[in-house]
Amino acid sequence: MEKILIVDDSILQASKLKSILEEEYDITVAHSPEAGLNLAREGHFSLILLDVVMPGMDGFTLLKKLQEEIITQNVPVILITSLADVQNEQTGLILGAVDYIIKPFNPLIVKARVNTHVKLYSYRKQIEYQSMTDQLTGVANRRQYDLHSAQKWKECLRLKLPFSVCMFDIDRFKLYNDTFGHPAGDKVIASVAKCVSSHLRRSTDFFARYGGEEFVALLVGDGSDKSFNHFKAVRQAVEDLHIPHDPSVAPWVTVSVGGVTVVPNEDLHYDSVLKMADTMLYDAKKEGRNRVVWVTENMKQLREK
Ligand code: GH3
Ligand code: MG
Ligand code: MG
Repeated sequence: MEKILIVDDSILQASKLKSILEEEYDITVAHSPEAGLNLAREGHFSLILLDVVMPGMDGFTLLKKLQEEIITQNVPVILITSLADVQNEQTGLILGAVDYIIKPFNPLIVKARVNTHVKLYSYRKQIEYQSMTDQLTGVANRRQYDLHSAQKWKECLRLKLPFSVCMFDIDRFKLYNDTFGHPAGDKVIASVAKCVSSHLRRSTDFFARYGGEEFVALLVGDGSDKSFNHFKAVRQAVEDLHIPHDPSVAPWVTVSVGGVTVVPNEDLHYDSVLKMADTMLYDAKKEGRNRVVWVTENMKQLREK
């Protein structure tokens, strides 16, 4: 059931609205704008029905606040008010409300308008999700990685936190496809992604399909020793899936991993850090594959084997 938030200081008006919508929606009611703002920040609402005239903060001010915050800025807001003049309607719509309903309202019209905007919001979320997700594996795609990496890099620069970039590449995968076929290869890509993401469960961990049979992981807060050890365990977990490879090269499907940990500073660019991780991956391949090679904050190399 989609969730709707009603913000109205009048208990009577709020319960009228609630009774119209509660059959189809999960309704939460706030009787003050402050409570409404707090609930909107926490809840995953698909729509907010907002009264305009309230004591303290009015609905227009609350609408502005909702639009300033990342979590709430895309949630559709319908203003529902006794202010029947064109000037107020104009103000509300220019501020970004998706609709403006004048009290006393017709229940069927309210319901129809709510249904339309909830549906549109749900399409929007679906499209956003699809545009950020890799279809084969269900993990973040390259587009999401591009956005996320830039944002995380900036955040770690500001907070002076260690930042690790780690590239994965499936070993001898061309041969795997040649031996077992492309559809089987696709299943391997999906299994490897599932295995690695199950080891990256912290809210600050990020994992994406970089392209083809390559993946990238970003870690925030841990130094190189901890990150190196963690990715050794992840690499081992992929090997332990025991997905049979072409026996002429290896018993199981494995990955090579190259990583780097840095504490971002103004003289360092993200692109050069990514390049370092890629160079470490190249070293891991050169040195025999199925291993992790890492470069530390002090430019020391750590090798698994
Ligand atoms: P290395 O150990 O040096 O990484 O060797 P490799 O064969 O894995 O490397 P190479 O880059 O030569 O080949 C990568 C292969 O990955 C070639 C390509 O057919 C396969 N591949 C890329 N994307 C997909 C995909 O989406 N599905 C499948 N099944 N295969 C893919
Ligand atoms: Mg490759
Ligand atoms: Mg490969």
